[in-house]
Amino acid sequence: MSPTKDNRTETQSNGTRGNSRPSKAKPAALPASLNRPLLKRLTALISRPNGKAVDVIAPFSGELLVELPQCTKEDVLAAADEARMVQAQWAKVDTRTRAAVFLRLHDLVFENRDTLMDLIQAENGKARRDAFLEVADIANTCRYYARKAPSLLEPQGRRGLIPMLTSVQELRHPKGIVTIISPWNYPLSLGAGDTIPALLAGNAVVQKPDNQTALTTLFMLDLALQAGLPMGLWQVVAGRGSAIGDSLLDVADYVMFTGSTESGRKIAAEAGRRLLDCSAELGGKNPVLILDDADLGRAVEGAVRACFSSSGQLCISGERMFIADSIWDEFVPRFVDAVKALRIGGAYDFSCNMGSLTSEDQLKTVQAHVDDAVAKGATVLCGGRARPDLGPYFYEPTVLVDVEPAMTCFGDETFGPLVSLYRFKTDDEAIAAANDTSYGLNSSVWSSSPTHGRSVAARLKTGTVNVNEGYAAAWGSIDAPMGGMGASGIGRRHGAGGILKYTEAQTVAHQRLMNIAPPLGLSDETFAKVMTTALKVMKRAGLS
Ligand code: NAD
Repeated sequence: MSPTKDNRTETQSNGTRGNSRPSKAKPAALPASLNRPLLKRLTALISRPNGKAVDVIAPFSGELLVELPQCTKEDVLAAADEARMVQAQWAKVDTRTRAAVFLRLHDLVFENRDTLMDLIQAENGKARRDAFLEVADIANTCRYYARKAPSLLEPQGRRGLIPMLTSVQELRHPKGIVTIISPWNYPLSLGAGDTIPALLAGNAVVQKPDNQTALTTLFMLDLALQAGLPMGLWQVVAGRGSAIGDSLLDVADYVMFTGSTESGRKIAAEAGRRLLDCSAELGGKNPVLILDDADLGRAVEGAVRACFSSSGQLCISGERMFIADSIWDEFVPRFVDAVKALRIGGAYDFSCNMGSLTSEDQLKTVQAHVDDAVAKGATVLCGGRARPDLGPYFYEPTVLVDVEPAMTCFGDETFGPLVSLYRFKTDDEAIAAANDTSYGLNSSVWSSSPTHGRSVAARLKTGTVNVNEGYAAAWGSIDAPMGGMGASGIGRRHGAGGILKYTEAQTVAHQRLMNIAPPLGLSDETFAKVMTTALKVMKRAGLS
């Protein structure tokens, strides 16, 4: 068996200033819920795996979680063939009947809440609270799209060319097969969150989760089947991008990719070559701005969550914090104390605030970023070291100052528990520094004045901005679009666009009574004059 390394290509350190509180417990053994029969049932749901299995390691303890069967290119093609057949029937099912499946799935998610949290933690290594937030998030997604899909997908009347005579409807047809490629950092939110609207829109889905977190996606597939989803409509394949990436694009009518900017560029380029529509949700280097009038109590608590939720392995996590000069001396010690107070450890309960990194690659990247910064003159205010005493991939939440452009962590995404603090004198200075990046995913602004906070927010070049919150307000407000500008991606998830993108828009224009041509006996010249007058009247009448 070969260990799962997949396609992670992020850049690849240590000190003695670590001081976050360790949990009392030693790395926990796998929970009893993740027993052999369950793992066997889940791996049996992988679509026809004929490749060589890989070992998946549980990050808390480094023990073997599962030998994950792998698919070949041929397996992907066969999975897509079956999906296409089932999709032809599913597309004929009334949207309300489809929606009912996802309302049942919502309830099953909560009925299986504890096993889902066990699985997420076992695969990803995050703290229980972060795992619970994924459970809540996926229920939110089920409910929102199940309630919204019928009205969003029904035919919409549009203004016709000639009022009364041209009647127009916009229809929405499913694309066919949506290929979904998802990462390991949010096994449930990203392992199923984009799948739900794609299926509701009448598509089949062929999905490749990351090997590290495939079990969570398979568990959701199992629940979706129990909720009444037709067998074969949602195909989960397993394998490295380098092994089956091409065939995943071959079978796609739409590609939904979430992962690194580097992989996203390659996939978007391939999709473009094939004229395939795609969304790419990519990396970030997200700023947190603590303005001079921030409520410091709220800002300290929020900034800790903004930077260290899911051990910083969160695409919308804060990695750069800009703090107003006038409050620096008060805010920074309070923030550092709050970070030091985080309880880190691997526990399958709610006793820890921060868990582990997910893999050795992740640990190496964080270590390398901290070591590089320290070697070039950065100062560690807290953290800065791995914690092998807690488990193989634990790293302390780390706060740096004196970070300069020559240091890797100044501009590159770390994707771990590391934040650099910078001082600013004016809002203009903070906004310019926050925008000085090719990324544009998420930002967070803290101010006790709504006008001040919102006016700064509108000047930040990121797809989402949270005022007086780190990331959860924008992410959880699922009625609004979510996604990145610049190197953080193309397209959006959530909101109406998050389901309509999985459809082909078709305009059906029905011309009644007379043709769009000069009526009998009217010359082309007179027709042109009549039309010119009519169009001018429309503009004067304020018609759109
Ligand atoms: P990654 O790009 O290495 O892998 C993501 C997924 O894509 C994995 O399933 C991987 O197997 C697959 N993959 C990679 N190359 C492929 C190819 N050529 N063909 C097909 N599949 C391929 O990213 P990662 O390290 O797993 O995830 C971390 C990155 O994802 C970070 O940069 C993070 O910011 C980003 N991310 C973004 C969002 C968002 O919504 N914007 C959400 C989560 C993570």
